[in-house]
Amino acid sequence: MKSQCKIIAIVELILGILGSFILAKSGGLNAYTGERNWTTTIFIFLIGVIVSYVFFVVLYSISEIMDNQEYIMKQLEQTDATPESRSVKSVGSNSSASLLSGTKSSTMDEEGWLCTKCGRLNPNSSSICSCGKHRF
Ligand SMILES: [Zn+2]
Repeated sequence: MKSQCKIIAIVELILGILGSFILAKSGGLNAYTGERNWTTTIFIFLIGVIVSYVFFVVLYSISEIMDNQEYIMKQLEQTDATPESRSVKSVGSNSSASLLSGTKSSTMDEEGWLCTKCGRLNPNSSSICSCGKHRF
């Protein structure tokens, strides 16, 4: 984006100088006698060059401002994003961990107990697993 704007600015300057050259060439001629009035020719050319140069400076400074803005935005994003994402991440992992442990313990309490020998889920009413292992 910024480089495009700079290219446009340079092209505008070249075209402006060429345009003012052409304008001066045709505008410098006396319409009646067909003779060249050098004062008018140089005057037209200079005005054309100055106008195109002013436009070039404006376009170029806009591209510089855009460049700076892009840089500032990137800096802001970098400084903003890192601590935020970190805090979000830690909060997320904490909550999910507590949720997991919560659901684990609740299922253990409500549905029964896991046998340490065969891994079968046994109801709380039975204290001995079907494989013969005692709950405690
Ligand atoms: Zn068992």
